[in-house]
Amino acid sequence: MSAPALITVDNMSTHYPLGRRILGDVPVLKAVDEVSLTIPKGAFVGLVGESGSGKTTLGRAILRAAPITSGTVRYNDGEVDYDVGTLEGAALKDYRKRAQLIFQDPYAALSPRMTVRDIIAEPLEVMGLTKNRAETDERVREIAAKCRLNLEHLRRFPHAFSGGQRQRISIARALVTGPKFVVADEAVAALDVSIQADILNLLKQLQADLDLTFLFISHDLFVVAHVCDFVAVMYHGKLLEQNDTRALFANPQHDYTKTLLSAIPSLDPDDRHRAKVYDPTA
Ligand code: ADP
Ligand code: MG
Repeated sequence: MSAPALITVDNMSTHYPLGRRILGDVPVLKAVDEVSLTIPKGAFVGLVGESGSGKTTLGRAILRAAPITSGTVRYNDGEVDYDVGTLEGAALKDYRKRAQLIFQDPYAALSPRMTVRDIIAEPLEVMGLTKNRAETDERVREIAAKCRLNLEHLRRFPHAFSGGQRQRISIARALVTGPKFVVADEAVAALDVSIQADILNLLKQLQADLDLTFLFISHDLFVVAHVCDFVAVMYHGKLLEQNDTRALFANPQHDYTKTLLSAIPSLDPDDRHRAKVYDPTA
């Protein structure tokens, strides 16, 4: 990992209380348990693991959207150097601009009467990042074009759009504040395979154009193998291992990782030498 770290997670836990205390300590669910993870600037880091392993919680804790019970998250983009868990006031607001989340489906939380323009503009308005409507519109049009949305569609309502177009709207909404770090949580999981490829290409294009760093959360190792520079593996709240993608796939350290890899149905023919490594019948 030669690039400097944008995000450094050090021994971080997110514990949720389970019920009430009767005797002794409150029992806790260790959603994330003493995790350390480095995300190099400019990297596309995959975070994999089965459902319930703590991926979403870790991504959200890094964004200060889930509690950091202990340990630290550091964000250093060269302009600012933040101890994320202690941010408040103007610094926390500034961090929210710099670190954003792409949801799988944000529409559940949005009014059906919001136009595409309003959906993309909302983070700017909530954070008060623009001076007036004209400036907001300018920013919305700029990011919509980068996300290859038809600008004619900005006046429409998103319910009529396809899954792929809706995902482009979600991406534009996440990027409109000009973040440097983006958590994409199962951002392509609900899409058809051909649309998935479009969206993945768009994310990679945006990464290059906008100088973004990604934490790409996915349960789909096939996708992760093809788009991520580094991979981190979670299991029951623990981070088992992290490595660059090729090394992790060629030489998994943990039995759990080996099991995960053996479940991939097939790989690109160019990668057959790697497929052998985790073909359980080989
Ligand atoms: P993943 O994204 O890998 O599926 P999550 O991070 O969503 O895993 O969940 C990890 C564990 O934490 C699960 O057992 C889940 O039920 C629990 N959990 C997540 N959020 C909360 C919360 N707000 N309160 C209590 N438990 C939670
Ligand atoms: Mg999740």
